[in-house]
Amino acid sequence: MDNTKCPICHNEADSSRGRGRGTSRYSCRTCGQYTITASAREDTIHQWWNRQDTVSLAKLSAFVKAWTLRHPEGISLRTEHEKPKALPNPVFTLEEALNAFPRTMSDRIDRALLNLECMASKLDSWIELQYKTDYPVVYAEDEKEASFLINIIGKQDLIEWTLDPMKVHLGTTDIGVRLTARGWQRIDELQRSCLHVQVAEGVA
Ligand SMILES: [Zn+2]
Repeated sequence: MDNTKCPICHNEADSSRGRGRGTSRYSCRTCGQYTITASAREDTIHQWWNRQDTVSLAKLSAFVKAWTLRHPEGISLRTEHEKPKALPNPVFTLEEALNAFPRTMSDRIDRALLNLECMASKLDSWIELQYKTDYPVVYAEDEKEASFLINIIGKQDLIEWTLDPMKVHLGTTDIGVRLTARGWQRIDELQRSCLHVQVAEGVA
């Protein structure tokens, strides 16, 4: 494992050679675990950075993160033109990952709740979030938007948040959040619909 920069979010990450020619595997606190082909990394994602396409970058981070929260082994990413054969499963194209991003604000909130549920070890546990590194958890583009979304979800009484170090070990963490009774109720409703299955399978 080498210490390097995640090609998607540019935060610090560990990397190693992936299975398959020219592929690399990354372990990133922000995005999660993924294997990526050289072409997806050096052509497409590099171009997104060059033209400051932060929306596509954030959508991709959110996709990998949501998957990793449910399946710690992560995913493989490729371009449309490449064959998925040599890559570890499951394999998605960058386009599929972008298309899976929630389209409306209420969809984003629902899926953020489902992500927080994966991170909650118990019904009443506080989840430590750093806006700077954990913004994909709430489907935000950056730390500023993450703080805005957490605020909105809090105002809907779906989560509560704290900065009190007596409640949650904050350290360098920005905020502690936990699901409220209303938040858990909403998660129940979503689990009865098929949204959580779609998220787990990478189609939503
Ligand atoms: Zn990353």
